[in-house]
Amino acid sequence: PQVCQPPLHALLAVPPVELREADLRLVWISHIHADHHAGLPSVLAARQQVLGEGCPPMVVVGPRPLQYFMRRWAQMQPLQYRFVDARETAEGGMQARAGRFIGNAAHAGRGVVDMALSAMRPPDPANKEAVDAAAAALGLEELQSVEVVHCAHSFALKVRHAAGWSLVYSGDTRPCKRLSDAARDATVLIHEATFDDGMLEEATAKKHSMTKEAVQIGEDAGVYRTILTHFSQRYPKIPVIEEISAPRVGIAFDLMSVNFADLPELPHLLPALQVMFADENLAAEAETDETTLFSAEP
Ligand SMILES: [Zn+2]
Ligand SMILES: [Zn+2]
Repeated sequence: PQVCQPPLHALLAVPPVELREADLRLVWISHIHADHHAGLPSVLAARQQVLGEGCPPMVVVGPRPLQYFMRRWAQMQPLQYRFVDARETAEGGMQARAGRFIGNAAHAGRGVVDMALSAMRPPDPANKEAVDAAAAALGLEELQSVEVVHCAHSFALKVRHAAGWSLVYSGDTRPCKRLSDAARDATVLIHEATFDDGMLEEATAKKHSMTKEAVQIGEDAGVYRTILTHFSQRYPKIPVIEEISAPRVGIAFDLMSVNFADLPELPHLLPALQVMFADENLAAEAETDETTLFSAEP
């Protein structure tokens, strides 16, 4: 049997809430579906409570629709934040995209070009300064949003730390080349695995990934550890992946925290987690018809 060092409870430690929120320097949101951003106002409010007067604005990098949500929320509850459109942190930034868009629109006439220009106003230079400062405080040499295939304005995140490690988070997406390229040789790839293997039709229709696709992307990209997350509510805890030989794969669940120093041990947790959640998975299977009623588009 495999012996885990350090013990399970240490690997899965969750820091105290107050500490976590006071230490936050930057929040990055992948896309506008509620399961990815609805908790943001309460996190910002809790942080303001911990830090009190003079709480500096939190840098929030996210999809453009999030800005509307935040503005409306801030009318009800004062929130200290600076919103940065994720496109401003994409490769080439907003300007490269604006250039392509205007180039295409040029064929359609002057009015369309004017519209394109006004829709793509140059970003506030203070946004880049705020992101750079937060990244530097976190020891990050790179922070890049990567467009992925889900709803409009959906992104993955790539960060590279000065110590040498890198982390890529898929957000919600179908497998796509931009994400695979970003994940090349990453230390950790956190990839969504919404659907079980064999559910290609559902995965394609809802623009999500299947477990085996997520595992394969990590393998092909030479990733050191792939951590699967965002499991369908059909299996509320962990996916069924016995059939897959996945020696480099770990599984995430809500509030799980992983120390990078413990990454070598991560795959060894898989059998233990499958035993821990075996009963709940069986119960979920029995209730499949009822639970699908509640699986709103995630
Ligand atoms: Zn989701
Ligand atoms: Zn989604």
